[in-house]
Amino acid sequence: MLRTLVGSAARRQAAASLLSGARQRAAARTFSSTSSGMQQGDGLPSLHTLSEEEEMMRDVVVRFARDVVQPKVLEMDETETMDPQVIRGLFDAGLMGIETPADLGGAEASFMSAIIAIEELAKVDPSVSVLCDVHNTLVNTVFRTFGSEALKAKYLPKLSASSLGCFCLSEAASGSDAFALQTRAVRDGDHYVLNGSKMWITNSNEADVFLVFATVDPSQGYKGITCFVVERDMGITIAKKEKKLGIRASSTCQLAFDDVRVPAENVLGDVGKGYKIAIEILNEGRIGIAAQMLGLAQGAFDNAMPYLFQRKQFGTRIGDFQGMQHQYAQIATEIEAARLLTYNAARLKEEGKPFIKQAAMAKLYASQVAERASSRAVEWMGGLGFTRELPLEKFYRDCKIGAIYEGTSNIQLQTIAKALAKEYQE
Ligand SMILES: Cc1cc2nc3c(=O)[nH]c(=O)nc-3n(C[C@H](O)[C@H](O)[C@H](O)COP(=O)(O)OP(=O)(O)OC[C@H]3O[C@@H](n4cnc5c(N)ncnc54)[C@H](O)[C@@H]3O)c2cc1C
Repeated sequence: MLRTLVGSAARRQAAASLLSGARQRAAARTFSSTSSGMQQGDGLPSLHTLSEEEEMMRDVVVRFARDVVQPKVLEMDETETMDPQVIRGLFDAGLMGIETPADLGGAEASFMSAIIAIEELAKVDPSVSVLCDVHNTLVNTVFRTFGSEALKAKYLPKLSASSLGCFCLSEAASGSDAFALQTRAVRDGDHYVLNGSKMWITNSNEADVFLVFATVDPSQGYKGITCFVVERDMGITIAKKEKKLGIRASSTCQLAFDDVRVPAENVLGDVGKGYKIAIEILNEGRIGIAAQMLGLAQGAFDNAMPYLFQRKQFGTRIGDFQGMQHQYAQIATEIEAARLLTYNAARLKEEGKPFIKQAAMAKLYASQVAERASSRAVEWMGGLGFTRELPLEKFYRDCKIGAIYEGTSNIQLQTIAKALAKEYQE
């Protein structure tokens, strides 16, 4: 009995001190919010509570997705091209430098703002969403986090205003085992000369700025990997544009480097530290893919649900059949769970707390929910859902990539298992 009381008193004390820290952080991000309606002292906010800035970001992106993206979605998918007006529009709307400091041309908004933008875009078009995601959460973040002042000053303003970025890690022989890459960089005076190839590079057909991972010394294994900033006109060749199952408007290309000369000052971070950049950035990038899959699931759900209350069979609205009710209740619950996992991983990252396990869980689960939600949405609309006149079959095709890029589902499971083993062995 005494042990229980002592234990509970200590727990109460620990909880009280934790809560006061968390309250301060929560206050910093919510009490300016008009939309949350919260007053100081009301208690901790839910994960749905967004700051005023984040609510504003959501409004901007909802309008942009509706007015600029929506009218072009089906045509971009059919033609497998990203409309240049959409890319221009993303820059004009301030969505390509979301976390970039204002003095470098960006919106200087939170990581959560980027996550919300990615989610909202994916509700309408997961291809546009991944373009914005890779540019913001991978490319801009690498510059912001690891770039020298000179590289930041040179590239971040362009990346906020007009130059699209891409992240070039994967190669034909190195996917999940990314650090087995073979692209070579050899020092030649004040330049490095790059030779080799990359595969599966998102945005590369339209990009101007390429973050390229290459090894300066294969005998050093992953410790030779170095990150270079390469501009398109330094001599990169787009060797092949892939034809894909889904996210067809998003370009995915093979690149060739044939004696591409890159100034030595374009080494981003330290020579031999590219592996560290790639690991850190992909850990956080996974929250972006979780947001893309979450948006996709919600988009499929929102597109299908109204039909359930218009369509009648056997004299009854199909949404009133219990067999249907159970299905949409289940999917709505799963989408809510995916949202909470995704927002929680984002908030942990913002708070500077460990988030790798939660990011892997969010990506793994959100991609599973996206598959189930889009598959159900096609079924709920019957034959109509199967046609290319509606976006349902497109969501169904687009969802599959969530289990593949930025670490396959098996790799996410491995990350989660590794974290658990560490927790339980210590
Ligand atoms: C549309 C698209 C866009 C992409 N965009 C980019 C980009 O912008 N930049 C970039 O660098 N890359 C990009 N990629 C590459 C992507 O990250 C890789 O495809 C992914 O990491 C998987 O690598 P892989 O295709 O070589 O498959 P593999 O690694 O060969 O995997 C094949 C299968 O084996 C399983 N497997 C592999 N290793 C293990 C293991 N240790 N344990 C259990 N199972 C395992 C995998 O889970 C998978 O099921 C993109 C890919 C696609 C398809």
